[in-house]
Amino acid sequence: MHIFKGMLQKTILRPVEFEGVGVHSGESARIVLHPEGPDRGIRFLLSGKYIPASYRHVIATDHATVLGAEGLTVSTVEHLLGVLYALGIDNLTVEFLRGREVPILDGSGYYFYKALKDAVLELRKEARVLQVVSPLEVGRGQAHIRAEPYEGLCVFYRGYVRGLLQEGTARYCGNAKEVVFARTFCYEEEVELLQRRGLARGGSLKNAVVIGEGRVHNPEGLRSKDEPIRHKLLDLLGDLSLLGARLSGRVFSHLGGHALNYTFVKALAESSLSTSLRSSSVSTPW
Ligand code: ZN
Repeated sequence: MHIFKGMLQKTILRPVEFEGVGVHSGESARIVLHPEGPDRGIRFLLSGKYIPASYRHVIATDHATVLGAEGLTVSTVEHLLGVLYALGIDNLTVEFLRGREVPILDGSGYYFYKALKDAVLELRKEARVLQVVSPLEVGRGQAHIRAEPYEGLCVFYRGYVRGLLQEGTARYCGNAKEVVFARTFCYEEEVELLQRRGLARGGSLKNAVVIGEGRVHNPEGLRSKDEPIRHKLLDLLGDLSLLGARLSGRVFSHLGGHALNYTFVKALAESSLSTSLRSSSVSTPW
């Protein structure tokens, strides 16, 4: 891997606010996204302290991605980050005015996308892009994620939905609309277990798809036949953003989740660091 310079960095034109419940904590949250200048990256601001949206600050990956610094944590960051990554937004601050879990809204990235898509501002500085120059793969059990060289970014997620879809592949190659609408989901039998573990306290049929025996509990049904697979792709985009740089490459995930996404991002970042340290033409990437 190496770092090269390419497209321009982006932020947002104006502050944008979101309010709602946190799906795991059940607590009410209010966040405001503030524009930032170049090279600031994406950061969360809580109680006057910044937590960078970086793989270096991942402290948990159990059913959501949790970031932390200086004893503070912010959770369920992946849907918002997935939308920011798909829109190519490199710099902004997510300030928590209340709570510390990103509002789940309707369980997808749709409302983030809707509010931000026309508020993107290009900055006069080139973006940092990490280019995959040789294949890299991580795996755990049946799941694996692989990166291959490619000009641009194309991300594939292959998986199944128990009782509903034997196998399907979702693809993101630049069209955010194909993934942002897909809602988070869980299986019927997981609900009680999740709640017993203190998770999904804010979960409801208004912000999550619940899948039972060959059917979904939500009266409105699925937004697409492969909605859960597309959601896993949105999660993956959010976790990829923790690289702290844009990615140029093709990524294939088979059954990956937050934990493996994290392992993958860390491996990608570390491999790029070791390459840049060896190369005299490339300075420290970030
Ligand atoms: Zn998710």
